[in-house]
Amino acid sequence: MSIHTVGVIGAGTMGNGIAQAVAGAGLQAILIDISEAAVSKGISTVSGSLDRLVKKEKISESDKADILGRIKGSTDYADLQAADLVIEAATENYDLKIKILKQIEAAVKPGTILASNTSSISITKLAAQTARPENFIGMHFFNPVPLMALVEVIRGLQTSDATNDTVAELAQKLSKTPVPVKNAPGFVVNRILVPMINEAFFVLAEGVAEAEAIDEAMKLGANHPIGPLALADLIGLDVCLAVMEVYLEEFGDSKYRPAPLLRELVAAGYLGRKTKRGVYAY
Ligand code: NAD
Repeated sequence: MSIHTVGVIGAGTMGNGIAQAVAGAGLQAILIDISEAAVSKGISTVSGSLDRLVKKEKISESDKADILGRIKGSTDYADLQAADLVIEAATENYDLKIKILKQIEAAVKPGTILASNTSSISITKLAAQTARPENFIGMHFFNPVPLMALVEVIRGLQTSDATNDTVAELAQKLSKTPVPVKNAPGFVVNRILVPMINEAFFVLAEGVAEAEAIDEAMKLGANHPIGPLALADLIGLDVCLAVMEVYLEEFGDSKYRPAPLLRELVAAGYLGRKTKRGVYAY
């Protein structure tokens, strides 16, 4: 199945980046959010991101205008009628996503593929709430979308081969690298990354090394571009804690217990860069 028009639900951090990738690849994007203000904010974020590409001479002013011209902002799900595929990238909340999936299904033509960019909700579980679970799949982009090359393509238990192949092909068209993944908590990247960050909080609390030393060691010793504690501040300590709690609950394995220091910092409201204080002060 060839994809010409992609609906994107949610014009926030991830949604506007996905719309930019879609339009940048020459496809039509329909970007939907709940208010005109949220849609405009998403489109102006894309515009700012394209301005940086113009400045770096990666695209011309007229490319920028063409890309923006291929993004249609809307608050009306009925506009999804034109979509061949819809990527849900709204707020991470199970009940909200179910409500949105029903709205999408009521609007799209038969055979349209539905994908979710969820970070933590089971793709199999979301698929089971739709009328055609074989047409449902996870498409997990990384932040910031215009810069990050990976898309985890997550098969639910009932996802069809055709859906999987179409989505992998689309990811390539967006200049991303699709990596095939089976549905499981955290998929691949976050399953490995977040427990590593959690371990860094144990190491810090035990006094094995200072925060700066832990980050420096992991940058130089593991060749990571950023240390785990600085990364926690970037992601949000509350997000890291919530993810560990999901793993502990879903796997029932104590190796996923959140570090007490991580809990303590979250309890204090030290959530990272977004609150100007996390492991480090900003
Ligand atoms: P965000 O808060 O920046 O944006 C969410 C947007 O969804 C908001 O603009 C909100 O108004 C909109 N929204 C809420 N209800 C809606 C509805 N009924 N219809 C249409 N739009 C609605 O969130 P985000 O960081 O972009 O995350 C979106 C999704 O992507 C989540 O599922 C998240 O788990 C996932 N994700 C996030 C990241 C990240 O680093 N931020 C990375 C990968 C995946």
